Amino acid sequence: MPKTIKTTCPYCGVGCGISAEVDPLARTVVISGDVDHPANFGRLCSKGSALGDTVTLQGRLLQPRLHGQDCSWELALDALATAFADTISTYGPNAVAIYGSGQLLTEDYYVANKLMKGFIGSANIDTNSRLCMSSSVAGHKRAFGADTVPGCYADFELADLIILIGSNAAWCHPVSFQRIRAAKSANPLLKVVVIDPRQTSSCDIADLHLPLASGSDSWLFNGLLHYLHQQQAIDRDYITQHTQGFSAALTLAGTASLERVAQQCALPAQDLQTFYSWFAATEKVMSLYSQGINQSASGTDKVNSIINCHLATGRIGQAGMGPFSLTGQPNAMGGREVGGLAHQLAAHMDFSNAEDIDRVARFWGSRNIARQAGYSAVELFDAIDAGKVKAVWIMGTNPVVSMPNADKVRQALGKCDFVAVSDCIAATDTTALAHLLLPAQGWSEKDGTVTNSERRISRQRALFAAAGQAKPDWWIVTELAKRLGFAQAFAYQGAADIFREHAALSAFENDAEHGRRDFDLSAYADISHQQYAELPPRQWPLNQDYPQGRARLFADQQFFTASGKAQFIAVSPTKPVNAPNAAYPLILNTGRLRDQWHTMTRTALASKLNQHKPEAFVEVHPADAERYGLAADSLAEINSIWGSMLARVHITDSIQPGNLFVPMHWTGQYASRGRMGGLVNPVVDPISKQPESKHTPVRINAF
Ligand code: SF4
Repeated sequence: MPKTIKTTCPYCGVGCGISAEVDPLARTVVISGDVDHPANFGRLCSKGSALGDTVTLQGRLLQPRLHGQDCSWELALDALATAFADTISTYGPNAVAIYGSGQLLTEDYYVANKLMKGFIGSANIDTNSRLCMSSSVAGHKRAFGADTVPGCYADFELADLIILIGSNAAWCHPVSFQRIRAAKSANPLLKVVVIDPRQTSSCDIADLHLPLASGSDSWLFNGLLHYLHQQQAIDRDYITQHTQGFSAALTLAGTASLERVAQQCALPAQDLQTFYSWFAATEKVMSLYSQGINQSASGTDKVNSIINCHLATGRIGQAGMGPFSLTGQPNAMGGREVGGLAHQLAAHMDFSNAEDIDRVARFWGSRNIARQAGYSAVELFDAIDAGKVKAVWIMGTNPVVSMPNADKVRQALGKCDFVAVSDCIAATDTTALAHLLLPAQGWSEKDGTVTNSERRISRQRALFAAAGQAKPDWWIVTELAKRLGFAQAFAYQGAADIFREHAALSAFENDAEHGRRDFDLSAYADISHQQYAELPPRQWPLNQDYPQGRARLFADQQFFTASGKAQFIAVSPTKPVNAPNAAYPLILNTGRLRDQWHTMTRTALASKLNQHKPEAFVEVHPADAERYGLAADSLAEINSIWGSMLARVHITDSIQPGNLFVPMHWTGQYASRGRMGGLVNPVVDPISKQPESKHTPVRINAF
């Protein structure tokens, strides 16, 4: 008998609600947008709409496999526990690691971090969210004292100026873009500015496109801060009462005259003037930023250069205004809330604070908690390559495709003593290197929560029984924990137990007396199983003051810093680390397509999604095509000093001369030389440790 189940889309950070009409016997589902979900009010994009085509058992990993042979769960878990225990006993806890994913549910993330940090005693657990959002995490923490997004999606409909910075939202956050497009139709005063080296589909609704030179964003926003000051468009009262550090930030921004910014960003001064004057004259401004800002060796500074302009004008925490990070993955935010990154602890605590470490240890009853940050993503695979990490468990991600310098990642895993991979897909570039494969439940089988870009926690609910012997990720973690001797601390019967504990930890000593006033889910600390099952989508904080959640933070001008004031960050613009040179004269940019998700393990199952862009391609400006002898639709080889790939040549003037763009999706499984990760430089931001995936020097030749 078909039934309707409300759940959440597993792709991007918009976090759309889905109404799924499920036939459990036929294992089919008809997908439509949940008209009641505040993220999308019934809208879906092409990927979300096609989810019904991806629940097939085709390609699924249905049984544990050890050294290529099917085996029982008992045998598989014993092998995992033995590998971890033996490695720890011989080389210490920092010789093991977990690499997770923004696809994991919050409950999965929570137990994995509790096991590694609290009980194994190593913080060597990082996630592919490091490649996606960590610069925003660091920028928020510096400015607000906590990793948090101040506003909400409803602000898109209340703004009079929306700035999309390093974001092709039309393809990467399509439902948010649909909301902006609809808002623009309804409000003729609403202007949209797109700041992106490429002319993307998001420019279709732009009143102004600023195709700035790759990597020059900090110049642009330092210039804006300088301009706002010059034009007396800053809010002096707000700056004095609610912020610190303005003078230092303004001093560094003082070099960013309009002429200098125009030169550094390679933009017409007149267009800059137009943008700056719109920002100065418009009260309700939203600045939406994404991977074009984050994936940079100075991504954290870029985030802060944007936030600085909102602080200078007091445009934060009020309806229709504020900086807003568009999260890449469906649960990058939820993962951060439970300490998903190697420098974090659960509930927005971290290793930089000894009191946080002790607090988490007391709450968990842990006598062996890690006391310092572990390896971030690039460091982790380097450590595996160097033989420092000897046993690794990769959960729900495909780093042999998605990491920068991915050939080195493949090499590292190839020589690692023990590689376990839990995934719902059997054959990926990463599972090919695993000694142990663990079948994980996929979307439509898993049960738990995710948090979207606007801090909204939503339930992902199971639509079907698990395929084959697939298990929830949290269950696999707890079985490992039990075998390592930590059964008492991991006695969970279901996702609800874990969520309750997560909420209780968020409330533990979370008050002014203990210097914590940050992430708080205390309203959920003792919810029943039934309440968890029915949990409506709500924005945290969820506590006594805000039992229904809170749309906007900082309306009361109370920030999470020690002083309670927001912090300006003085930003000195820097160039991308690796500049083009005679051997590698072009700049490679990478990104998502409209109809594919990450390494295509699920979206490629939907034939209609494959029709949009059927193969790996490279966008080349006509002048470069002529210069390098590239014909339209021919094959080209792209090389960097890290690797190479083949791609079909698309000649387009939507890209600037001297730049190339390749999509991130194709893997060795679909095109043996279409994998882009091998090309990308592994340079990282020194603060956020996020790789500079938008700027790699390359050359291109006809193949
Ligand atoms: Fe899913 Fe994102 Fe599309 Fe919404 S916009 S349906 S969350 S992929």
